[in-house]
Amino acid sequence: MAEKRDYYEVLGVGKDADTESIKNAYRKLAIKYHPDKNKGDKSAEERFKEATEAYEVLKDPDKRKKYDQFGHAAFGAGHGGWGGGFAGGADGFDISDALRAFMNDFGGDSFFSDFFGGSRRRGGRGGGSNRGSDLQVTVHLTLEEINTGTSKKIKYKKREHCSHCGGKGGSGARTCSTCGGSGQVRRVTQSLFGQMVNVGACSACNGTGEVISNKCSECGGDGLLRTESTISVKIPAGVAEGNYIPLRGQGDAGARGGQAGDLIVIIEEIPHEFFERHGQDLVCELEISMPQAALGDEIVLDTLDGKIKLTIAAGTESESVLRMREKGLPEVNNNRYRGDILVKIHVGTPKRLSSEERDLYRKLKEINQTKASGEGAGFLRKAKKFFS
Ligand SMILES: [Zn+2]
Ligand SMILES: [Zn+2]
Repeated sequence: MAEKRDYYEVLGVGKDADTESIKNAYRKLAIKYHPDKNKGDKSAEERFKEATEAYEVLKDPDKRKKYDQFGHAAFGAGHGGWGGGFAGGADGFDISDALRAFMNDFGGDSFFSDFFGGSRRRGGRGGGSNRGSDLQVTVHLTLEEINTGTSKKIKYKKREHCSHCGGKGGSGARTCSTCGGSGQVRRVTQSLFGQMVNVGACSACNGTGEVISNKCSECGGDGLLRTESTISVKIPAGVAEGNYIPLRGQGDAGARGGQAGDLIVIIEEIPHEFFERHGQDLVCELEISMPQAALGDEIVLDTLDGKIKLTIAAGTESESVLRMREKGLPEVNNNRYRGDILVKIHVGTPKRLSSEERDLYRKLKEINQTKASGEGAGFLRKAKKFFS
């Protein structure tokens, strides 16, 4: 068994951290490593599990006391294990325990229930095989919209109850003889891990448990019709490409009393003319002239929050990076944190000079050459970082 990391180290908090900072540290890690956001990424799953396990212990004063005293041995096999009902012994718990623990702690949190709504269903949300399909739509957002948060109207097609037959699919319904009305059939398959029993929807009745004799002419018997639908979705500030917002019950309607599916709204970013996004930071490049670099200047930049003054110090070098603190994007659901704007400076070399400029540059050159220090007169120095 791999050496277990210290719980405080896992969450990145001190031994004397209070419950609030432990919760915040865990929350951050859970957002980052949640399996819904890192599909198929095994190492993210491990980190999520590890963080959840650490949090489950450290948030509980009794467990924390035991852990402080005995370390991981406090929860080893034969010591009563997790007490809280986790299945794992000395190995901690598995990913489904972690997801369950996470939803128990944060499921009521509006951010998490919106962003990780998918996890809730894992807990067994019923609906049976009549449940309508989940649908996906993509919304394209500008950085300006991401900066402030926005509301978007989405037009999409979904299956809704047929008004012609009232969603019944027709008349003369009788119990399906294939599944006996349960809508489900058991299938036994052989797999690498031995025999597996799958319960799937009955194909004879499409999982409804009923067969219709006189099918509705409008919907052909499913009781559902494709219709155009419009919905308004609120998008919180700070979202990133690939985030998604599940809108419960806004997907396809379920057949014959089945639960409706969800509409999954996927966020896509429209590239910005100047700014490139790096997490919550915004990076841009700014070309300034040689006199501006030498003498310093004040420049007004068009940012997402409007015009902001940027001070160029005298003697600013080309390729230097100026940081405008907290002028970047807010973090999702955490308005206390904002990223920065990073401005990479390029000092432009003039290529076409007016005769007046040429005279001035000549004069500058003469002055530089008479300077004893040799600064600006073309001296050699060792390359700091030739290959980068
Ligand atoms: Zn059936
Ligand atoms: Zn119909």
